[in-house]
Amino acid sequence: MPRKLLPILLTMAAIGHGETIVLRNFTLIDGSGGAAIPKAGMVIVDGRIQAAGPVDQVAAPKDAKVVDLSGKYVMPGIINLHGHLGNVVDLTQDPKNFTRANVEAQLKTYAQYGVTAVLSMGSDQPLIYDLRAAQRKGRPAMARIFTAGKGFTGPAGYPTSAPGMKGVPYEVSSAAEALKAMEELAPKNPDFVKIWVDDHLGKEKKIPTEISAAIIAAAKKKGFRTCAHIFYYADAKALAEKGLYACAHSVRDRDVDDALIQTMKKNGTWQLGTLVRELSTFVFSKPAPFLNDPFFTMSVNKGVRDTLSSDAYLKKQQGDKDLPKYPGFLATAQKNLKKLYDAGVRVGFATDSGPPARFSGFFEHKEMELMAQAGFTPAQIISIFSKNSAEFLGWQKDLGTLEKGHWADLVVLTKNPLADIRNAQSIDSVYIAGNKVR
Ligand SMILES: [Zn+2]
Repeated sequence: MPRKLLPILLTMAAIGHGETIVLRNFTLIDGSGGAAIPKAGMVIVDGRIQAAGPVDQVAAPKDAKVVDLSGKYVMPGIINLHGHLGNVVDLTQDPKNFTRANVEAQLKTYAQYGVTAVLSMGSDQPLIYDLRAAQRKGRPAMARIFTAGKGFTGPAGYPTSAPGMKGVPYEVSSAAEALKAMEELAPKNPDFVKIWVDDHLGKEKKIPTEISAAIIAAAKKKGFRTCAHIFYYADAKALAEKGLYACAHSVRDRDVDDALIQTMKKNGTWQLGTLVRELSTFVFSKPAPFLNDPFFTMSVNKGVRDTLSSDAYLKKQQGDKDLPKYPGFLATAQKNLKKLYDAGVRVGFATDSGPPARFSGFFEHKEMELMAQAGFTPAQIISIFSKNSAEFLGWQKDLGTLEKGHWADLVVLTKNPLADIRNAQSIDSVYIAGNKVR
């Protein structure tokens, strides 16, 4: 943002508009990665930022609602590029749960945690398009919906044997079937296309590379970008070579290398971390350390918490014969994410929250902690979940950094997140399109 060019006749801003809000006297962290601006102000007109910068350059229009935020910090809203909406109630996943009420409840939970947009990755039903269309006509008061609609896997492929996942994705056995499914999907105009490419450590059927390649090509022909759930290095590499837009998880079977880095950079393939998804594979095998954290309990009911600490639940987690491998997969994911980022591969922010025991909102903050542990600075994490993630979506003219013209999707904090990313939990209030939603 060209901050030096900011002095603007802001008193003109409100004329002819419905609603003007002025935020004043906060420290602005705009998501660009530049230095924070102390004593900042922001003018929001009909949900969009009209000006942001030093407060003495941001005059309050006469009829504006002025909010004094002395001592507070403002950062961009968190964009989660990998979630799953609507299928879970408490700890049960079932497509029957996919109702307007359940999707909206989850979008409101996200918003309570400062997550202002979520890309739902391939497990949605047609209702999602109606909800998205309604949001895009106006100013949403809950997290913004992006969707990959109905994703793809092979016949009886991963994850169709997971509880509540049968019938959720397309199961295609040939390039011709992939094309046919794409003809059905394309008119709905999903934001992305999703493929699950995994055998779940040899326990499930993985879609063959040539069919995935056919899906990527068919999507591209329709103007869609494809994201793939991957686990193995070999799949990341093979699909990046075929023009994959994003690896929707980290490579976890081995370290990434220069060959993958060069392929991803050459083809513009993005990497999403979803580190907290790995945490979820083992953290509930013992009573989780955050079960009584008020930041967790504010959105997770007592029944669910009791289940998570019950003997039966713990025993079930401990009975997974692959459990000893999971912490290593997290460590590999962390190392690989940082290595790709440092090498210049584009990295967006993502958690895979939404499925059972992957708690929307809370998990986005855990993801930030795991990124910090992997060596990302707070400023990098903030830029990744705002600027980078908006660019991933192709919405960088509307979302991401807190600058003129963008929607006012932002989080007000009482503590400085640049000092410690865990301070992103000190949420005072949340705005989406200028609507105060918390
Ligand atoms: Zn997922």
